[in-house]
Amino acid sequence: MEGQDCIFCKIAAGDIPSKTIYEDEDFRVILDINPAEKGHALIIPKKHYADIFELPEDIAASAMVLAKKLATHISGVLGCDGFNIIQNNGEVAGQTVFHFHIHLLPRHKGDSNQDTMCWNHVELSPEELEGICQSLRLQG
Ligand code: 5GP
Ligand code: ZN
Repeated sequence: MEGQDCIFCKIAAGDIPSKTIYEDEDFRVILDINPAEKGHALIIPKKHYADIFELPEDIAASAMVLAKKLATHISGVLGCDGFNIIQNNGEVAGQTVFHFHIHLLPRHKGDSNQDTMCWNHVELSPEELEGICQSLRLQG
């Protein structure tokens, strides 16, 4: 699903016009077409990677540096009270465009996402918690 079939490949290449707020060799940053808040933007790598699992480490690293730069910039311009940085992988996790992207979501006190930007919680026994901790432990 890349090149001709991928909307973000076309947007990143400039073949489809977008509200671009930043561009460099590796990334284009655009305003979301269906924003959750004013200034909702998307960091899009110019090369096609479906999700974080396909993303090379150097692009992952520079994407996060860029997220910090843009979040700082947008926050300053819009006078944000807070900021969400969100990245979805897989349909079950809410991904709808299968070209890696990072959501930059400016937040203000009292904005329309106060009640929706939250997780439900699961109850885990101490044994389940210990089991999941053991199974997820990774050597640094
Ligand atoms: P996801 O759900 O995959 O994490 O997020 C996809 C995002 O891309 C959505 O917020 C959606 O509004 C945005 N989007 C989808 N198609 C387009 C498009 O053609 N142009 C722009 N600017 N945003 C898009
Ligand atoms: Zn693509």
